[in-house]
Amino acid sequence: MRKKIVAGNWKMNTGIQDARTLVDGILNDLPQLASHQQVVFCPPYIHISRVNGQIQDSGKAQVFCGAQNCHDKASGAFTGEISIPMLKEIGVTHVIIGHSERRQYFAESHDFLKSKVDALVEAGMQVIFCCGEPLEVREAESQNDFVAQQLKDSLMHLNAEVLQNQVIIAYEPIWAIGTGKTASSNQAQEMHAFIRALLATHYGEDTANEISILYGGSCNAANAAELFACPDVDGGLIGGAALKAETFLPIIQALS
Ligand code: PEP
Repeated sequence: MRKKIVAGNWKMNTGIQDARTLVDGILNDLPQLASHQQVVFCPPYIHISRVNGQIQDSGKAQVFCGAQNCHDKASGAFTGEISIPMLKEIGVTHVIIGHSERRQYFAESHDFLKSKVDALVEAGMQVIFCCGEPLEVREAESQNDFVAQQLKDSLMHLNAEVLQNQVIIAYEPIWAIGTGKTASSNQAQEMHAFIRALLATHYGEDTANEISILYGGSCNAANAAELFACPDVDGGLIGGAALKAETFLPIIQALS
């Protein structure tokens, strides 16, 4: 059965005390998760060890700590970067790759993302691979081609077994990220079904049906249930609403 996941991308937000309070608030009131449901916190690097400690202390088996980025090389002269072995050593299991902010502000290319994907897979980590079109592409109705290219260039060289076991896809239309402008459930379902069909053509239906495809972009307590009820939407990658327990918990509760 494919996993239903809510992942919180904190971006460059929260100090130490805020991070502790946030995680405690969520873990204390976390609903009982079914065996196919997972929650992932992706705090800034400097909070990962502490957040992971809080998760371990809580004894909640289906809650994980992720990172928002990584470098593709294991070590070396890359000032300011963090490697996958470093993340693994402090208990990170999931890494977000290809977020539109990394693509846009840090000029991360399809090739660099592909290399990060390969390094993560090699290390046995879970990849949360982001894709999604800017507004002008949506207005030109070219979103399917755009997203297909992102997936083909950086992800679809993986074999079926790896894809099924180590990859989560997050569809995040750029025009919906941090704007308060959520994709309608129809728009989300259409794109998620397109992505699943693309995977089915390449890998076969059985593999495609096992891949979790999350929606991201102004997902919140008010719209999560409708979005997650779509047959091809398997949860969400959440930005702003992941920063408060009272806005993140109802999104987790919306998982089916
Ligand atoms: C994100 O950046 O991954 C995201 C989904 O942000 P927000 O929920 O704030 O739109």
